[in-house]
Amino acid sequence: MSELNLVLLGPPGSGKGTQGERLQEDFELPYYATGNILRGAVEERTELGRTAKEYMDRGDLVPDDVISGVIAERLQKPEAADGFILDGFPRTRPQAEALDRELADLGRDLTATILIDVPDEEVERRLGGRRTCVENGHVFHVDFNPPEKEDVCDIDGSRLIVREDDKPEVIRHRLGTYHEKTEPLIAFYDDKGLLRRVDGTEAPDEVGDRIRALLATLRMEEDI
Ligand SMILES: [Zn+2]
Repeated sequence: MSELNLVLLGPPGSGKGTQGERLQEDFELPYYATGNILRGAVEERTELGRTAKEYMDRGDLVPDDVISGVIAERLQKPEAADGFILDGFPRTRPQAEALDRELADLGRDLTATILIDVPDEEVERRLGGRRTCVENGHVFHVDFNPPEKEDVCDIDGSRLIVREDDKPEVIRHRLGTYHEKTEPLIAFYDDKGLLRRVDGTEAPDEVGDRIRALLATLRMEEDI
């Protein structure tokens, strides 16, 4: 069976995490979300993990070369021999170029970059409508999953709040960063013929089915 080396792209709130976890189950591939990977490297106390921890402890962003190094360590593990799913890396063009070099060193290629496309106003509606329970983190949504009583958790009766990340100005800032830093990767991967777009405005099951269908097509094309 050929390798399935995948990158997931999409704005915040596009459902990359949900789709990444489904792909991990369906294809039995490791799912590498950047935050988890960094935490993993810190826990395993690898040299890069210790370096990453120094930045994180200071509240600084972990630099590109450290993140790239941590990802490269994971891609070399036996668990990633048949493929992997990357989410949150690469996030910038220099990171994408670093990933290309690392894969080339390993004699491997990306199979596809899947863009889960969601317009800004839909992102703002999805994230801005979230209400989180202060006590236990239960999540509701004013449109998609409203609590029975406004601003009260159905499960434990705690107050529901808008988390910092879900405030309109923070969402707009995150979208701005996405458009500025990450969107150039769409053209980068399109030029390489690796980009596959999926309409992320549909329900998660629909989006999942479309991704599975396009991966099945890719595998068939490879086998020909
Ligand atoms: Zn609750």
